[in-house]
Amino acid sequence: MATIGTPKSATATKVLLCGSGELGKEFVIELQRYGVEVIALDKYPDAPAMQVAHRSYVVSMLDGDALQAIVEKEQPDYIVPEVEAIATHTLMELENKGFTVIPTARATWLTMNREGIRRLAAEELGIPTSPYCFAATEPEFLEAIKRVGMPCVVKPIMSSSGHGQSVVRSEKDIEPAWHYAQEGGRAGAGKVIVEGFVDFDYEITLLTVRHIGGTSFLEPVGHVQKDGDYQESWQPQAMSATAKAKSQEIAGKITEALGGRGIFGVELFIKGDDVIFSEVSPRPHDTGMVTMITQDLSQFALHARAVLGLPIPNIAFHAPGASRAVVVDGNSNQLSFGNLDKVLAQPDTQMRIFGKPEVHGHRRMAVLLARGTDVEEARRKTGVMKDQLEIKL
Ligand code: AMP
Repeated sequence: MATIGTPKSATATKVLLCGSGELGKEFVIELQRYGVEVIALDKYPDAPAMQVAHRSYVVSMLDGDALQAIVEKEQPDYIVPEVEAIATHTLMELENKGFTVIPTARATWLTMNREGIRRLAAEELGIPTSPYCFAATEPEFLEAIKRVGMPCVVKPIMSSSGHGQSVVRSEKDIEPAWHYAQEGGRAGAGKVIVEGFVDFDYEITLLTVRHIGGTSFLEPVGHVQKDGDYQESWQPQAMSATAKAKSQEIAGKITEALGGRGIFGVELFIKGDDVIFSEVSPRPHDTGMVTMITQDLSQFALHARAVLGLPIPNIAFHAPGASRAVVVDGNSNQLSFGNLDKVLAQPDTQMRIFGKPEVHGHRRMAVLLARGTDVEEARRKTGVMKDQLEIKL
């Protein structure tokens, strides 16, 4: 029987959110709607999700001791990681002590490291992936390139959003790819994965939610990536019935192996009727922000229901839609968004401004959303919105 208490009282249902970015912010808003008490963590103050939580702590999610101390003090009902880079050993210890980690501590550990998830998918579950090889040293790297062949993609095993990732097309790219990966890895120098380049027709995120009543799939989300950053996403991505069925089968298998409850973003490459698994995030996915306008329950609302053990009897889809990331380049701690009367003038459009306190370099600061009679119309609308948006640094 699902029960939720009164926030800030002895009966409170408490969620500790580890990572307070824009995805976390929307998730917190959904939790607040159920009267859940939310404690948000991030490494800097005033992170987006902190601005809508009951309280927050500034702490590095990789600092296991600090994380443990906060958990002991707060005694949350659910520990919900929002970032990949987290002290997964501490999460496993906490889980052993009886705390609930979403979806599971093992899932956060396996997906934090490209090697863990790739070996699970390809070697244990027999899911199709690109050919791959791991390398920890430069000689191993040269050998890996030989084995996989060119063109191939080189990625640090501990990185996200394209950091340290490059494509090796010919001999001259090999040396720079190794050094770039060494600089871009999260924990500094380290192991890389060399993956065969997949010449896909399109790529999708198949959002999959594991909840109290089973597993449900959202309509596939198509997207375009540039330098590891998503630029646009749309839903539904048109797919053959065969490719869609294969995608759901793969997503079902990998999420079942990871276990627990919550939403997962399963990233797949599609070529004709063939589906190739790329990776999976055991949490809401940035390309899934489109669901804030296409669905009755967005990926964040679904995540909240799944985490809290509430039923998800159906996922109502309103209409095709698109999202467009607003990535700002520059330096400012007083950014402003202007011309919004024009940005939001078209019907069936919305936007989210994340409220990040500053930008230094390159940062996603907002997202534009639109619904249309089809995906093309929705994408055209977000294009107009982007053209109208005026950003003052
Ligand atoms: P990742 O950080 O692994 O999600 O990769 C970021 C993006 O790089 C993906 O969304 C793809 O567009 C592209 N990519 C990654 N791996 C491959 C691959 N093996 N072949 C072709 N493109 C890839």
